Amino acid sequence: MPYQSINPATNTLIKTWPEHDNQQVEAALATADALYHSSWSKGDIKPRLQVLYKLAELIEARVNELAVIASKEMGKLINQSRGEVRLCAQIARYYAQNAERFLAPVPYTSDLGEAWVEHHPIGVLLAVEPWNFPYYQLMRVLAPNLAAGNPVLAKHAPNVPHCAAQFAELVEEAGAPAGAWTNLFISNEQVSQLLADSRIQGAALTGSERAGSAVAAQAGKHLKKTTLELGGNDVFVVLDDCDLDKAVAAGAGARLSNCGQVCTAAKRFLVHEKVASEFIEKFVQAFNSVRIGDPLDEQTTLGPLSSASARDRLEKQVAQALEHGARLITGGAAVQGVGCFYQPTILTDINRDNPAWYSEFFGPVAQLYIIKDDDDAVAIANDSPFGLGGAIFSGDLNRARRMASRIETGMVYINSASDTAAELPFGGVKRSGFGRELSDLGIKEFINQKLVVIG
Ligand code: NAP
Repeated sequence: MPYQSINPATNTLIKTWPEHDNQQVEAALATADALYHSSWSKGDIKPRLQVLYKLAELIEARVNELAVIASKEMGKLINQSRGEVRLCAQIARYYAQNAERFLAPVPYTSDLGEAWVEHHPIGVLLAVEPWNFPYYQLMRVLAPNLAAGNPVLAKHAPNVPHCAAQFAELVEEAGAPAGAWTNLFISNEQVSQLLADSRIQGAALTGSERAGSAVAAQAGKHLKKTTLELGGNDVFVVLDDCDLDKAVAAGAGARLSNCGQVCTAAKRFLVHEKVASEFIEKFVQAFNSVRIGDPLDEQTTLGPLSSASARDRLEKQVAQALEHGARLITGGAAVQGVGCFYQPTILTDINRDNPAWYSEFFGPVAQLYIIKDDDDAVAIANDSPFGLGGAIFSGDLNRARRMASRIETGMVYINSASDTAAELPFGGVKRSGFGRELSDLGIKEFINQKLVVIG
């Protein structure tokens, strides 16, 4: 696909971006590799941390400017784009403040002698990223790896090239040397070539199972580590003892935020039978009261999907779910007219023989299941190929904690929708991928944890 900025609210082409040829890719890789072998990567951490502090400042000074670019390119509501940009500054500052501690040597007690583990960078990494959080996804890779000393080549999604270019400019302006973060507008074939190159030491991918499988297979062939942050089909469990109004508000927000295009969005709503009718009535009301429109308008509460193909894919998935017996409670169609808009939609009566049961709907479509008890909720939650996140609403924290322990995912939130923060690990199990980003865990993914022993 060409690297193009197309406004999904108006279907207008903003700009086509030139792609990098193989010579340019080779030059970028050579520069990054030279940086890895320099004192920038292998020496004192402080100059690298200074870049992150400066980057946080630059981002904070340009929140609105950066947010408008994202909203125009992929349709995110302007206030949500601002939130994403601010989160990026927080992540940069978090690693600036904490990376030295995370990477300090760790002593080990051993009969073999004095022992410790040191933390060293491993070399140039390749980041392959999606469009749904066009800055945050990049910062999740940049901040820990810049602190650690791993240079990164980044291949962003082809529909957010302006965000990709802006991000790279900011990193440069913050004082990072050439090669620390290089944006590449390249094809999947060029990604393959990079993965085969001995100068690339690992790959971090966020995206679909299809992309994760392709990149991890190639990286595996060349014996390179990957982290995969893939899709999810997270449950949002509403138990009979919860604060229902809070659950409705959080659930609707969690399903409709970023027009439903969030990996950890609440996608399957498991509602206890005792509160089901009241929950459904309020939930439908919340869905039907959204204001669909221009993501740059502060009054809009539901923007477009990121592209015409994303809207068409969602339309097909809903049609297929209905053909297999699902029942529509509200919505169920694209919005007629200009732009990639889709009605907020609730589906129910989904059985295990319906492909919808096992599929991620990447848009404003909620699946609703009625549960009899806690065991029922856990069984449905775990009957999924994915294992990313989940949320449980209950007035009894012990009950919620027990359920959280039984849900097979990388993250569970109690009495709040799934969220993310610099200091909390992010990642999943099963077909949602492996490895963690953010927090102390994220910075250790592409590090040589080197043991030294004095015998
Ligand atoms: P996607 O189509 O898989 O694309 C993600 C990135 O992978 C793009 O840069 C894409 O580039 C690249 N890619 C795809 N196939 C490739 C291949 N064979 N070789 C090399 N690169 C390849 O995903 P998306 O539609 O942008 O994003 C939506 C998915 O990401 C959802 O499933 C969502 O749940 C998941 N996601 C997960 C997380 C998480 O942290 N777990 C966060 C956000 C999103 P091209 O388009 O050029 O092929």
